[in-house]
Amino acid sequence: MQISPIPTLDEETNLLREMTAKIVAEKIIPQEHLLTRGSESTELWAELQQAVKDSGLWAPHLPEEYGGMGIGFLKLAYMNEILAWSPFSNPIFGIMAPNSGNQKILVKYGTAEQKKRWLEPLTRGEMQSCFAMTEPDNPGSDPRSLQTRAVREGDEWVINGHKWMASNAKRADFAIVMCRTEDASDADVNGRMTQIIVPCDTPGFNYIRSVPIWGHSNGHHGELILEDVRVPLENALGRAGSGHAAAQDRLGAGRVYHCMNCVGQMWRAFDMMVRRAMDREVHGGVLSEKQFIQGFIADSYMDIQASRLMTIRCAEIMEAGQDARTDISAIKIFVPAALSRVADRAIQVHGALGVSSEIPLEGMYRGARTLRLADGPDEVHKILIAKNVLKRYASGQSWDFGI
Ligand SMILES: Cc1cc2nc3c(=O)[nH]c(=O)nc-3n(C[C@H](O)[C@H](O)[C@H](O)COP(=O)(O)OP(=O)(O)OC[C@H]3O[C@@H](n4cnc5c(N)ncnc54)[C@H](O)[C@@H]3O)c2cc1C
Repeated sequence: MQISPIPTLDEETNLLREMTAKIVAEKIIPQEHLLTRGSESTELWAELQQAVKDSGLWAPHLPEEYGGMGIGFLKLAYMNEILAWSPFSNPIFGIMAPNSGNQKILVKYGTAEQKKRWLEPLTRGEMQSCFAMTEPDNPGSDPRSLQTRAVREGDEWVINGHKWMASNAKRADFAIVMCRTEDASDADVNGRMTQIIVPCDTPGFNYIRSVPIWGHSNGHHGELILEDVRVPLENALGRAGSGHAAAQDRLGAGRVYHCMNCVGQMWRAFDMMVRRAMDREVHGGVLSEKQFIQGFIADSYMDIQASRLMTIRCAEIMEAGQDARTDISAIKIFVPAALSRVADRAIQVHGALGVSSEIPLEGMYRGARTLRLADGPDEVHKILIAKNVLKRYASGQSWDFGI
């Protein structure tokens, strides 16, 4: 990994990039093969996490008062680009989905008591969590259709529903459950949702199974049945009816991080592809001399630079506190598709090794495909882009491409 300072960035951001790259390139990537050995690798994980903490780079997504680095949105985006060179970096740096998303929501919507009880132990790594929104019988891409209900009875919520795909559910101590509550008016469809914190050992909270994804169950994407689950009213996150807004907060920022992670993965795939092309001799010459392969390199370079600029621009809009919804949708469609193409070409250049689990390319490819439907499918984001553009023109304006 070769990272020079970017002249247009401030010194602090460049230093952050350099320090992150040092750990990822020197400590994580060379030991990737040792990090997948279950309990045998526990010590190594702890050692690397300690190295990150000693460098002051732990939990960059959280404010300092909650044990994080307290850096802004843009700095984290630049850091993500480097972290994503290894699939192990994010957890080693204290960012583990869905805990990281839950932490951000608890920071923004949690009461002092909720922060003490759930956020602090989550950040210290003493607890695990999951986020349960999607349901098998209702379209997740239209969250207003969700049917899990929470009804007030005395000073408790009583929750009934069926969820699935709740990542990390098997290990979770608590779930943030998206529930339909009936407080809002019929006209306010989004206002009917509330996110409620449910400890996973509450009677009636039934973990059914881990849904295998691409043949693996290690993501613990849980199917859950909630039967008369009772939790105190104060377990609601934010005011009743704010669940939809909280989900948008979580997903909006998360999508930018996912895309910057995609860019980092593309750089790694590109680096692997170019090195392999220069080393591998086939039919009387190295692969890098063949024009088909040169085409792969050129197309991948363009995919990466286009994705990177789009994502940084979107992060800049967010950092400026402006409305980034159209750009978030644009990167959410474009960038995972670009990663799919780049990983695909890198796999092709590696031949059988490319689809083996000996190297990270097949994982990138599967991840990129999954991202095209998770966190809002492509079609929904395209509709949103067109809607925002058309709305602007209908109000007599044209698209402002200033920032
Ligand atoms: C690996 C993984 C991890 C996940 N983790 C979590 C988690 O932790 N918590 C959680 O709650 N959920 C999680 N999910 C669920 C994910 O968020 C949903 O799968 C996603 O929101 C899509 O919902 P759905 O699967 O119900 O698809 P549906 O809503 O049924 O959509 C199916 C397809 O319909 C099409 N479509 C939808 N709307 C339109 C439209 N308006 N016009 C045209 N076509 C349309 C799209 O092609 C879409 O892919 C995870 C999913 C995966 C794969």
